[in-house]
Amino acid sequence: MLQCNCHIVGDPKTRDALVIDPGDDAERILEVIHRHKLHVSAILITHTHIDHVGGLRRIQEATGAPVRMHADDLELYRMLDAQAAWIGWKPPEKVEVSEFLREGDAVRWGRFEAQVLHTPGHSKGSVCLYMPSDMPDTRAAAIAAKSTEREPGRLFAGDTLFAGSIGRTDLWGGSFDSIMRSLRGKVLELPDDTIVYPGHGPTTTIGNERESNPFLAGN
Ligand SMILES: [Zn+2]
Ligand SMILES: [Zn+2]
Repeated sequence: MLQCNCHIVGDPKTRDALVIDPGDDAERILEVIHRHKLHVSAILITHTHIDHVGGLRRIQEATGAPVRMHADDLELYRMLDAQAAWIGWKPPEKVEVSEFLREGDAVRWGRFEAQVLHTPGHSKGSVCLYMPSDMPDTRAAAIAAKSTEREPGRLFAGDTLFAGSIGRTDLWGGSFDSIMRSLRGKVLELPDDTIVYPGHGPTTTIGNERESNPFLAGN
């Protein structure tokens, strides 16, 4: 209903996958996982707004995968019933959080690795997940193919950065100063060719946003 993007990032070789923000449509997410014969190694939550965690319980039960989020969003996660009441949803059943994410943590699955950026502002415990371009396997493949082209990095931005906009900061735990600090100090530090997968709306790049996002002008 709220059009949250759920991302499933699978290693085509090992079939290990990460599920990011299963907001709703759990059966559709599970169908994709089964169709590609993926093994979910973890479920990652960029922040605990209901549109990002609504399908969490069902996906967790079906896959048995550990759930990882930032501890600063736990309080917001505990308010899930109130969040459901605001938008007229049935309150989703909560799950046990297996592990808390911290700034600089490395998340590994298959041959892939991503880095946790704690980017408070949209919520206190909002995180972005950055997959750098120079992962060992892709680098080796590029050398083998004598290619000088490098794959761009990828950023799963949650509701911190959108194409042409940024996350709202008027909800519980939100702060405009914090989100601007997170964007300037961390997100915009990434290379321009980094592909950004926001929590809502279309894909973009850091370069595009640096150039044309009205909130980031002059950065
Ligand atoms: Zn949100
Ligand atoms: Zn959202």
